[in-house]
Amino acid sequence: CSTPCLSSGAAAIKSALESAVAEHQADMAIEAVATGCMGPCSRGPVLTVQQPGAADTVYEHVTGEFAVELVQHYARTGTLPTQQQVPTDLPFFQRQHKLVLENSGLIDPENIDDYIAAGGYSALALALTEMTPEEVCDAITKSGLRGRGGGGYPTGVKWQLVRKAPGERKFVVANGDEGDPGAYMDRTLMESDPHRLLEGMAIAGYASGAQHGYLYVRGEYPVAAERLRKAIKDAQKAGILGNQVLGSRFSFTLEVRIGAGAFVCGEETALMASITGKRGQPVPRPPYPAQRGLWGCPTLINNVETFGSVANIVRDGWEAFAAIGTPKSRGTKIFALCGEVENTGLIEVPMGISLREVVFDIGGGLGEGKTFKAAQTGGPSGGCIPIQHLDTPMDYESLQELGSIMGSGGLIVMGQNTCMVDVAKFFMEFSLDESCGKCTPCRAGTAQLYRLLTNIGNGSATIEDMDHLENLCAMVRDTSLCGLGITAPNPVLGTLQYFRDEYLAHIEKRH
Ligand code: SF4
Repeated sequence: CSTPCLSSGAAAIKSALESAVAEHQADMAIEAVATGCMGPCSRGPVLTVQQPGAADTVYEHVTGEFAVELVQHYARTGTLPTQQQVPTDLPFFQRQHKLVLENSGLIDPENIDDYIAAGGYSALALALTEMTPEEVCDAITKSGLRGRGGGGYPTGVKWQLVRKAPGERKFVVANGDEGDPGAYMDRTLMESDPHRLLEGMAIAGYASGAQHGYLYVRGEYPVAAERLRKAIKDAQKAGILGNQVLGSRFSFTLEVRIGAGAFVCGEETALMASITGKRGQPVPRPPYPAQRGLWGCPTLINNVETFGSVANIVRDGWEAFAAIGTPKSRGTKIFALCGEVENTGLIEVPMGISLREVVFDIGGGLGEGKTFKAAQTGGPSGGCIPIQHLDTPMDYESLQELGSIMGSGGLIVMGQNTCMVDVAKFFMEFSLDESCGKCTPCRAGTAQLYRLLTNIGNGSATIEDMDHLENLCAMVRDTSLCGLGITAPNPVLGTLQYFRDEYLAHIEKRH
């Protein structure tokens, strides 16, 4: 019952399942539970049967009729039907390493008791009773956790900056304004395990000295916002949020703020403007939010997935987290695996896994008759990784060396028939639409870049336009005010780096 499966009818399936279960309640002990995302979107809606002492049985492409038949079959025979079963030894499941998504698809996101039974809020209790704020910041620093929103800034360093910043009033903000085309990692986490985010933010509040936090949620994510609001209410009732958190002297409250559908509000100064009721436009930095953020107070802003990693680090120790991944990119990363791959869905993998393993093992390859051409990471700020770099480790540094970025986790796989000029044009159109218009290089530059890409694509450009394109990319990158404009040329530069001949083929009408 996360958005992808809800959009394929999961709510009706759940009702049908509940009715069938109610009908047979007298004959057998069985309970229907709505969970968050299990991951394999291309197989959704997905239904899992859990039985004590037995391995889980997963069903794909479930319908309401199938759910009813499943319950009736079980009531009749005491066994489970074999059709539509997903083999659980699929590499899609086996090659993942779930930390942040450990509860997703296994617990009811709207039931705080489910989260607590899975060990939830034990990290917060541990931090409050056995660690000083300084020790919590140290643990996060030593874990090597870096910002999962794309920047990759060391999280512990940011927490320390806010902790040490002078001021009585401080704030914690979760950036849930995920807007890259093809990316839905944060949405899934907020919908599937909202209490994990609350716990990570409360620990961050304790560590940094903040007593209030905001969850800034993209306007297009109503399910996530609703579940977060319910989670906050339930946590308040349980004494986990509010005055004297878990009976301690620490107070922490949270509220949800909804964005209005502007991609630029993912940029932290625009996000803060939006939270305070102003128009969501970036302003120059410094001062950084850690120095002067919301209402002029020190403010700690992290991405949703970053906060999602915190409870594991505190609960299991920073050493366990740091043992996963590569020396400079520790822990796991969630990717939204999309495009021309057999198994699309949400995956969590150790940092440093190769792109080949992601595409061909977890993703199951591109299917009959298709060959891999490139993978796009980092959305409108990222670039393309071509076939000769399939063995690249997926970590911050390696992707940057190839002219791409980790980004927030969008990963789009493209086959041999994809036109790379079209790809660059698609992302440029996105940046053009989303440019807030405050500074000329981005406002006018993205429009000019889009025009040049259109002309190249339709064969009306000249070879001189290639120079214009590259010069304009450099100008927009070097002179724009915020990350949106600075990185908008990346999809062009990335495709030019590896697929220049395709641009030339359009111009020379060889295409
Ligand atoms: Fe607005 Fe673009 Fe300038 Fe950023 S770079 S402030 S999005 S116009």
